[in-house]
Amino acid sequence: MAAMNGRGHHKPAKYSAFTLVRRGLTGEPWPRAWRTHDLRPSYDAVIIGAGVHGLATAYYLATNHHITNVAVLDRGYVGGGGSGRNTAIVRSNYLTPEGVRFYDRSVKLYERLSADLNFNVMFSQRGHLTLAHNDASLRTMRWRAEVNKLEGVDSEVIGPDEIKKLVPFMDVGDDTRYPILGALYHPPGGTIRHDAVNWGYARGADALGVEIHQNTEVLGIDVRDGAVKGVQTSRGPISAPVVVNCTAGWSSLISAMAGVELPIITHPLQAAVTEPVKVFLEAVVVSGTLHVYVSQTDRGELVFGASTDPYASYSMRGSLEFTEELAGHVLELMPSIAKMRVLRQWAGLCDMTPDFSPVMGVTPVDGFLVDVGWGTYGFKAGPVSGEAMAELIATGKTPEIIASFDLARFAEGRLVGEKGAAAVGH
Ligand SMILES: Cc1cc2nc3c(=O)[nH]c(=O)nc-3n(C[C@H](O)[C@H](O)[C@H](O)COP(=O)(O)OP(=O)(O)OC[C@H]3O[C@@H](n4cnc5c(N)ncnc54)[C@H](O)[C@@H]3O)c2cc1C
Repeated sequence: MAAMNGRGHHKPAKYSAFTLVRRGLTGEPWPRAWRTHDLRPSYDAVIIGAGVHGLATAYYLATNHHITNVAVLDRGYVGGGGSGRNTAIVRSNYLTPEGVRFYDRSVKLYERLSADLNFNVMFSQRGHLTLAHNDASLRTMRWRAEVNKLEGVDSEVIGPDEIKKLVPFMDVGDDTRYPILGALYHPPGGTIRHDAVNWGYARGADALGVEIHQNTEVLGIDVRDGAVKGVQTSRGPISAPVVVNCTAGWSSLISAMAGVELPIITHPLQAAVTEPVKVFLEAVVVSGTLHVYVSQTDRGELVFGASTDPYASYSMRGSLEFTEELAGHVLELMPSIAKMRVLRQWAGLCDMTPDFSPVMGVTPVDGFLVDVGWGTYGFKAGPVSGEAMAELIATGKTPEIIASFDLARFAEGRLVGEKGAAAVGH
């Protein structure tokens, strides 16, 4: 692709039924969704990582604060990290009031995102069920339901009969190995099209003048007198007073370049998808006890996920152990799908924090900001994180909605414990 001098705003093609028909009839080609650029020697802000977090931060900087002299750098391609590998579950039925408020804002932003971006992100609020197979889980579900209700989020505990009505194929009998005692039902939860979200934000940010640089690896971060000065990249140095780390699974490596230590360990997380069949499963179903979750896409494929691989690694290879274990657990829930064939499986990296909450905001290095610690659950947080990080960059003040996720909480003992709602739930 030839480099274009695309600095500044440009008008992207409007996506509509009318333009689809017009371009179909005239053969007029569609313009690229985002442009390529030469790397400039300085920007007002450099964002490392072109996943949903980096792209959303760039988009809201441009749209909410009119800051467009911004570069988003990625060593690979847009959405090549967790943002293009996740199973795209969106929900806000978390355990802590801070978590519930935060994720609920993201659900609200996702609800209007297709219209905001003129890009169909296929947000499908089909309901989300977290199963309880023992008394301890049921107690956590009740706790979550109460916290959710207090924060205005629609969640309730339901029994096996109601579960059966929502998911007729589920075995809710009491002669199974782990009988289902109840579930936390969260009607606004559902799934989204992850690529569309990434591409929509990239296209929106590009249209407002942000530069997206793919194949541009950050190799070092320049820090002088306690403040960030810029980055060293595979295409040359860039100076910038603000550098944002949005690299999820690689975030502790990037932060180390600035001399900032993060309490993050990276684990692989795998997922798998089956051949498509006629749609029979409406809700998203999660079982923490069985370490499995399943949803059905609009095309009919079943998408399965599980908990992270039990060892730290930067490898993104799938394993047979995962598929075997997953199949065993899924069949305990839905024995009737035994004949379905798995089409493919894959892995991504998850930046796990000790309390299963993110790390967002300022660091001891002036101008070096983090939006990391997204573990297995960060895709759903893209919009709210982007909005909040953009506000922090533009105003210099940490927005209330992310204040409790600061890096200092680990040293000061203010953990925001979300494990009960984030371990397998994603
Ligand atoms: C299998 C799986 C299932 C998941 N399911 C869900 C789910 O259902 N719901 C949910 O909310 N979340 C889910 N997640 C988690 C979610 O995918 C991540 O939390 C989220 O995508 C993180 O987004 P990000 O933008 O922060 O990072 P990423 O999308 O990972 O982007 C980071 C980027 O940084 C780039 N990078 C790294 N190093 C450098 C460097 N040196 N220089 C330049 N660029 C660099 C990478 O190339 C990458 O593109 C899942 C994750 C996986 C792996």
